[in-house]
Amino acid sequence: MSSTNFITRNPNPLIDLSEQTFGRLTVVTRTPNNNRGDVMWLCFCKCGNQKVIRGACLRAGTTKSCGCISRELASARNWKGGRSKTGDGYIKIKKSNHLNADKKGYILEHTFVMSEHLGRPLEKNENIHHKNGIRADNRLENLELWSTSQPFGQRVEDKVAWAKEILRQAVLDKYRNK
Ligand SMILES: [Zn+2]
Repeated sequence: MSSTNFITRNPNPLIDLSEQTFGRLTVVTRTPNNNRGDVMWLCFCKCGNQKVIRGACLRAGTTKSCGCISRELASARNWKGGRSKTGDGYIKIKKSNHLNADKKGYILEHTFVMSEHLGRPLEKNENIHHKNGIRADNRLENLELWSTSQPFGQRVEDKVAWAKEILRQAVLDKYRNK
């Protein structure tokens, strides 16, 4: 059956869309109607795909590509310069060369911020506490470095204070014993 037969056998007046372009799509030829009786056209997309699309969608401008435009938009929305949110609400960023990065090159942003502040990677027993409880708020002033070595969960600052106190007591003892 030639394409001419398609056209002449269609009871509705048909607008021939052959060789017209709609967005990224260029119409090649008509194809059999879909099972709902819609007029269908085979189109080539600029991206290299081909797809059969309803004529009504082409003429209304609702279909402008094989689907590649919306795929590109979706990936652009998800791509935030390598910045994304983990399932538990933390921000991870791409820093492939960082010693605290995982195998895929991602590091939790709060780890990175603290590590930049300290000028060294974090140790295994160190982690970061978000003071205001908002896991995506990685301003340095919202972050607190915790050490999970014994005693569990003690702040590094507290440990420093504790060490200073021991020293102070030692000095006091020495003074008293004189
Ligand atoms: Zn395409």
